Amino acid sequence: MSQDKHVYFFGAGKADGKAEMKKLLGGKGANLAEMTNLGIPVPPGFTITTDVCRYYYDNNKTYPEDLDKQIEENLAKVEEIMGMKFGNPSNPLLVSVRSGAAESMPGMMETILNVGLNDVTVEGLAVKTGNARFAYDAYRRLIQMFSDVAMEIDIEFFEDVLEEKKKEKGVELDTDLDVDDLKDVVAKYKAIVKREMGKDFPQDPMDQLRMARDAVFGSRDADRAITYRRINGISDDAGSTAVNVQTMVFGNMGDDSGTGVAFTRNPATGENRFFADYLFNAQGEDVVAGIRDPIHVEELEKAMPEIYKQLREIEDKLEKHYNDMQDIEFTIQQGKLWMLQTRRGKRTAMADVRIAVEMVKEGAIDKETAVSRVPAEKIEQLLHPMIDTKADMEVIGKGLPAGPGAAVGKAVFTAERAEEMAELGEKVILVRSFTSPEDVGGMHASQGILTATGGMTSHAAIVGRDMGKCCVVGCSDIAVDAAGKKFTAGDVVVNEGDMISLDGHAGNVMLGEAPLIEPAMSGDFGTLMEWVDEIRSLGVRTNTDTPVGAKRARAFGAEGIGLCRTEHMFFEEGRLTAMREMILADDEEGRRAALDKLLPMQRQDFIEIFEAMEGLPVIIRTLDPPLHEFLPHTSEEVDDLAREINVHPANLQEKIDSLHESNPMLGHRGCRLGIAYPEITEMQARAIIEAAVDVAKRGIKVIPEVMIPLVGQARELELQRELVDKVAKEVFEEAGIEVEYMVGTMIELPRAALTADEIAEHAQFFSFGTNDLTQTTFGMSRDDAEGKFLQTYVESGILEGNPFMSVDEKGVGALIEIATERGRKTDPDLEVGICGEHGGDPKSIDFCHRAGLDYVSCSPFRVPVARLAAAHAKLRSEGKME
Ligand code: PEP
Ligand code: MG
Repeated sequence: MSQDKHVYFFGAGKADGKAEMKKLLGGKGANLAEMTNLGIPVPPGFTITTDVCRYYYDNNKTYPEDLDKQIEENLAKVEEIMGMKFGNPSNPLLVSVRSGAAESMPGMMETILNVGLNDVTVEGLAVKTGNARFAYDAYRRLIQMFSDVAMEIDIEFFEDVLEEKKKEKGVELDTDLDVDDLKDVVAKYKAIVKREMGKDFPQDPMDQLRMARDAVFGSRDADRAITYRRINGISDDAGSTAVNVQTMVFGNMGDDSGTGVAFTRNPATGENRFFADYLFNAQGEDVVAGIRDPIHVEELEKAMPEIYKQLREIEDKLEKHYNDMQDIEFTIQQGKLWMLQTRRGKRTAMADVRIAVEMVKEGAIDKETAVSRVPAEKIEQLLHPMIDTKADMEVIGKGLPAGPGAAVGKAVFTAERAEEMAELGEKVILVRSFTSPEDVGGMHASQGILTATGGMTSHAAIVGRDMGKCCVVGCSDIAVDAAGKKFTAGDVVVNEGDMISLDGHAGNVMLGEAPLIEPAMSGDFGTLMEWVDEIRSLGVRTNTDTPVGAKRARAFGAEGIGLCRTEHMFFEEGRLTAMREMILADDEEGRRAALDKLLPMQRQDFIEIFEAMEGLPVIIRTLDPPLHEFLPHTSEEVDDLAREINVHPANLQEKIDSLHESNPMLGHRGCRLGIAYPEITEMQARAIIEAAVDVAKRGIKVIPEVMIPLVGQARELELQRELVDKVAKEVFEEAGIEVEYMVGTMIELPRAALTADEIAEHAQFFSFGTNDLTQTTFGMSRDDAEGKFLQTYVESGILEGNPFMSVDEKGVGALIEIATERGRKTDPDLEVGICGEHGGDPKSIDFCHRAGLDYVSCSPFRVPVARLAAAHAKLRSEGKME
C-alpha cells in the first residue's frame, strides 16, 4: 500500500482522476476531476482516496507512511498554480476540507472552510484583500467549523457568542457586525477552544489540515453515519469517504462576487429551463441556510452578462457530458467564475418522468436509459393528491405509510358513523385501534384510514390500499377511545368531528386541514409507461374485489386480476346476516339455505367484475378467513343478531364461543373451510361459473380462474377441484354453453412449496400468498410482528428489513424457487404468480423476475409502480441497469 497513489490532483485543466473513479475518489472528488478535465474552471486541489479511509480503519487509525509526503507534493502544485503559499504570512493559500463518499449521503457531509488561517495569516489576508472585516469573518468561520467537526466542541457555545454580540450591537444579521466586533468574536471563540480542549486553537496550518483530514475519515464511523447507512441500505465500505482539499474561493468579497446553486432543469417540474438561486456578496452556506432570499438568475444576467453567458455554457456542457440533469454549485470571486460541484440533480417524480421522456426526444438518451432512471417507488406520487408539504401543520403522530396519498377530514371512530356522516356529504377519516372486515363500508365512505395498531399487511393497510385510500397504520402515538368518541396523542385530544389530515407518504398525522396538491397526469407519464411495457416480460395484475377497483387498475395498466378476496363481499349491506346464518346453522341444510341467499349476490359481484375486466384473466379465491371474523363481538351486537335471526342470545353466545380459536390464523380457515363445509365452495364455484356463463352469453370474453387458499397437501386441492369441476359441469349443462376456466391454488404454506410437484398434479396455476408464506416460514404473526418486535430485529441487524414488505430471498424466496421448479416439473405450462403484498414492492418484483414467475399482482394504485419495477428487473437482468 505504501507505494500506492493516495492523492489525486486536479487543477489548471488537468486532473489525475475522472468521473468513473467514484469508488476511489468519492462522488465529489471524481466529479471535480472530471470538470477539471473538461476545461471547466475548478479551484485547484486534491483528493485523498477512499482506500486511505479503508487503510485508516484497517490499521488502527494510522496512515500509509508516504501519505504526508504525497499531500505536501500536491499542496505544492496547488500553491504553484495559485501563486500563493499555505501558511505564508502575507500571501496565504486557504483551503476547504470536505468529505465525499462513493454513495451520495445528503446531510452527512463534513466541511471545514478557510483552513490555513491563523493569528498571523488573517492579518496577511486582511492586507492582501484590503478588507479586514472579510478576513476576520473568514477566521471566525474557520474556528467555528473546525471546532465542531475536528474537535467535537458543542456548536452552541459559538452560536451563543455570535448571538450575544449581535444583541450587544443591536443588529440582526452577521453581516452587520464590523471588524472590531469580529475580532472580539474570534477572541471569544479561541477562549472556548482553550476552555473545552485544554489547549489553544491550532495555529500551524499543516496541523489544521491533518486534523481536518482525521476528522473527515473519522466521521465514517460516527453513530449518525452508521445509522444513516443502515436506514438507506448503504454498506460500510461504500460509506468510506475520500477527503477533498481545495483552494478556497470567496463569494463574499464585494458586489462583483457571489454564490449560487443551480439546476440544469427545473427539479420540481422537469421543465427544460436553467434554474438557479443566487446571492450577491455571499458564501455558499448562506444560500443553503436561506439567510437571505436568493435572487432570480435573470438579475445575474443583467449585472454580469459575460459571467452569466459563461455559466450557461458550462451548465449546458455539464448536462450534455453527464447526460442527465445536474445540480451545480458555483462561486464568483471578484468577477471570476469558479465551479465547486456538479452532481446528478435530485428531483420530484414529476420532474423525473418529464426529464427522462424529453431527453429521449432530444436524442440524448435511449428509451431503456430513460426507463432505468425513473425510480419505481416514486411514481405512485403521481397518482394521488398529495399534502402540500410546505404547509405549516402540527404533526401529532407518526405511523406506517400504508396507503399513499393524502386525506383531510373529520375524525370519526366507528364505521357506522363514517357512513352516516359521509351520507350527509361530510369528509371523514376513520380512526380505529385496528380495522376488521366489518369496517369496510366505513372505510369506503372515508377519505382516509388511521389505525393505532397493525402493520403493512394489516387489514386496514390491505383494504385501504385496494380502495386507493390514504392510510396510516400502526400509529402507536395515538390512543383510540372509540366509546368516548376521541383519540389522544400526547396531550392533544381529538374529538369526533375535529379536522385531521393524513400524509400517506410520510405516515404523518396532523391536526387541522392540510392543503392538498392535485396530481398532474401529464402525457409524458403515459409515454414513459408505453416504453416500460415494451421492455418488461413480467406480467402485472391487480388485487381487487370491487368493479371500481378493477376499472381503476385497468386504467393503470393491469393485465388481469391476480386476487379477488371474496370474503370482503360478505360484509356488505344485507349479506352479513345471511353469512352469519350460514355460520351459525346447526346442519348442512341450514347452511345451504343461507348460502342460497348469498348465491345471487355473489354472482352479481362477479358479473360486474368480469365486465370490468373484459377479456382479461380474473382469479377469484374461495373463502379464506376464520369464520369468527364474521360474527358479532360485543354483547349488544349479539343481542341484535339474536333478535334478527330469532334465536336466544345465550344460545347464540354459546355457538359464538364454540367457534373461538386460540390461533385463528393457523386454525379453521382457507381450504379447511371448504373441506369441512363443501357447500360453501359449491356455492362460490356456482356463483363464479354462472357469472362467467352470463357474461359469455352476452358476447363478453371472460377468463375465470378459481383459486383455493391455504392448501398444504395435494389431496386438499384435489377434493376442492373435484367440487368446482362438478359444479361447472352442472352449470354448463344447465346453460347450454361452456366457458373455459382454470382451477389453481395459493402457495402460502411451506409444506405446499415443498410438495409443489404433487400439488401441481391438480393445479392449473400457482399464486404465492407471500403474506401467509412469510408468516408461516418465519413463524411470525403478520399482524403482531410489525407493531412489536420487528423493528428491534431490524435495528439490531437480525433482519435486513421487514420481510412482510420485501421478500426474504434466503428463506421465503428459496421456497418460491423450489415450488416454481417442482410445480413446473409436473406441468411445464403451469402459470405462476404472486399475490401477497410483496407483488407491489420493487425489490420483491426484481426477485419474482429472477425466479421466473409469470406475473405479479398488487393493489390498483401500485400497478404502474409494478410495471416500472418489472421493466427495471428486466434491464438489470440484462446488465443494463444497476
Ligand atoms: C397472502 O397470504 O399473501 C394472501 C395474498 O392472502 P391473504 O393476505 O388474504 O391471507
Ligand atoms: Mg393468505
